[in-house]
Amino acid sequence: MSKDPLSETSVPSASAESSDAFARRWNYRPPVPIRTSPFFALPPSPVECVKWFADRWFKFAENTILIVLATLVWFFFQPPLSETREWAVGWVLEIYVRNFILLSLVAGGLHLFFYRWKKQGSKLQYDSRELVSSGRLFTFGGQVRDNMFWSLASGVAFWTAYECCMFWAMANGYIPQMHPSEHPVRFVLLLVFTPVIISFHFYWIHRLIHIPFLYKHVHSLHHRNTNVGPWSGLSMHPVEHLLFFSSVLVHCLIAAHPIHILFHMQHQALTAATSHAGFEGLYVRKKNRLALGTFHHQMHHRFCDCNYGNLEVPWDKWFGSFHNGTESSHQDFLANRRRSS
Ligand SMILES: [Zn+2]
Ligand SMILES: [Zn+2]
Repeated sequence: MSKDPLSETSVPSASAESSDAFARRWNYRPPVPIRTSPFFALPPSPVECVKWFADRWFKFAENTILIVLATLVWFFFQPPLSETREWAVGWVLEIYVRNFILLSLVAGGLHLFFYRWKKQGSKLQYDSRELVSSGRLFTFGGQVRDNMFWSLASGVAFWTAYECCMFWAMANGYIPQMHPSEHPVRFVLLLVFTPVIISFHFYWIHRLIHIPFLYKHVHSLHHRNTNVGPWSGLSMHPVEHLLFFSSVLVHCLIAAHPIHILFHMQHQALTAATSHAGFEGLYVRKKNRLALGTFHHQMHHRFCDCNYGNLEVPWDKWFGSFHNGTESSHQDFLANRRRSS
């Protein structure tokens, strides 16, 4: 795998009072060491577990917003299963246009807010360098144009293709369907476990595409983005889209309602935009009101060979690829890299 040329450069820092050398490489570094889900920590801490869960499910947070969105889409912007039983251009196009608009609203909205209008300045921005506006590295000669092209042309197409196949299969009884009135508890539990299922799948496909051959021909397209913006999240090679969205195939085995399928796919596509926002969160009235980016994945983009998973399941801790954002962790990471090169 190639090492990014920027990975060893330091970034102008706005945090002169930073506590260590690693912090000075960033415009903003969140409190470290960054935390992974306490559900897997020993000894178990029920208080931490309740807090982690509440932060994700009982606040104005991505998961809650996405459940509301999936429900609204199901009731108002989704062809009924009776229609998806037979393939037809009309309902497929309807889903494609809907997904195109959803991604444009989320990634485009965040991009305009943070990067075009700079409404938040560099507050909570990990890396305050501008996105790359020229150069041969990017399709169409610029990072945002490149990212928009791969996200909208390939990303939305694969997202739509998986959804259409799942709805067609469910409508024809080829995959099991869950009815919330018969299994209300299972219905809720499956929503809660969806991010965990996604985390499991993401870690392993991500490790797979870091195998040198696949990295070179597939995943390097996503890693053109050393610094990231909202459109970078779903900017992937079509083969990566094929793998990335395949997590929804779990519902060939686990019975689901169409709302679960919509939540799963919208979680995949739309949190790719938010998690690559480049900002820790939306800063309103001196507070971070909505968590967006993760420093964990921002480090993956700058250094490439650490932090392959996300924080819902501590895969990186278990498999020795975790960078917790501290200076000592960075020194360990560099020593490991020297040993393996
Ligand atoms: Zn990424
Ligand atoms: Zn990667």
